[in-house]
Amino acid sequence: MMRRSVVLRRRPSGEPRPEDFQIAEDAIPSPGAGEVLVRTRFLSIDPYMRGRLSDRASYATPVQVGEVMTGEGAGEVVASGDPNFTPGDLVVGSRGWQSHSISPAAALTKVAPHGAPLQAYLGVLGMPGTTAYSGMTDIGRAKAGETVVISAASGAVGSVAGQIAKRAGARVVGVAGGPDKCLWVQETLRFDECVDHRSGNLHGDLADACPKGIDVYFENVGGEVQAAVIPLLNPFSRMVMCGMVAQYNEAQFPAGPNLGFIVGKRVHIEGLIVSDKPERFAEWRALAGPWVADGSLRYHETVIDGLENAPSALALLLRGGNFGKMLVRVAD
Ligand code: NDP
Repeated sequence: MMRRSVVLRRRPSGEPRPEDFQIAEDAIPSPGAGEVLVRTRFLSIDPYMRGRLSDRASYATPVQVGEVMTGEGAGEVVASGDPNFTPGDLVVGSRGWQSHSISPAAALTKVAPHGAPLQAYLGVLGMPGTTAYSGMTDIGRAKAGETVVISAASGAVGSVAGQIAKRAGARVVGVAGGPDKCLWVQETLRFDECVDHRSGNLHGDLADACPKGIDVYFENVGGEVQAAVIPLLNPFSRMVMCGMVAQYNEAQFPAGPNLGFIVGKRVHIEGLIVSDKPERFAEWRALAGPWVADGSLRYHETVIDGLENAPSALALLLRGGNFGKMLVRVAD
């Protein structure tokens, strides 16, 4: 019996292709002390893996050419050098694309399927399900009566995220690709609506599905779906920046600010309207007044003379023609 592994042969350009990988074979290893040999039953295939195939800057180390492709799997213990595991135990863990793998015992989680198949621990009960739960609990915080939009709604994360929001009493609108997925999202997941982003009328359909705007957006895809969602976001809405799978195959990021970095860098997005906290005005004046007086707080002004020139001052400002604070001097 040999072990089979999928090794990265070269970095893919665009969509990964089979030729980017190769199969390697070696003897099935024996576990050392504190190690466990697992026969893989299921591998989890996740969008983040596309990032691991690329060597551009990321929150995670990429797989090197010649290395076994990384990933989570579920399987059965075959041999154990650790007293906590015995042959036959069912486990999940991060072990890579291999038929058999050696893992430190600490890297494995024993699971005992109770009415759920083993592979559910890679999906709904595993990392994607947990992602949905965490995103909805810590950031989305959907409440009864709110409108929640979930992209990639039929997917591993989206399907769970939407159901959590439904349980909270929210009105949930999915976005998915194609009528079959949308039907499933509505009939099986019981989302209130599902918009087909391939229908050719995404922006209009989403607006129709969200007549009261959007209170929570669980972002899984980015791209055109994100562009359709953003104008519909309500004041104080929350955007759970979970992933932007639409751009993972792109060699170049889209022009403009790239919200994809928000995920890897764990940035919180929250809007600010200064008048929400009027007490800050007096606080700031008291704090910064002396700094302006002693010159330690510096600033620049552009002054345009004449009230009649206020509109052109505004236009100038909007095309960056000001240097520092744009002012119109109306009278001396
Ligand atoms: P899914 O099961 O949802 O599969 C990906 C889906 O994305 C596809 O089925 C497709 O659904 C949709 N999709 C792909 N390209 C596009 C596109 N151009 N426009 C619109 N939709 C597109 O994957 P997961 O549930 O595993 O992951 C969902 C997201 O969550 C990903 O972005 C992933 O990276 C992220 N994630 C983030 C984690 C984190 O810790 N931040 C952890 C786990 C996942 P359709 O056919 O409906 O368009």
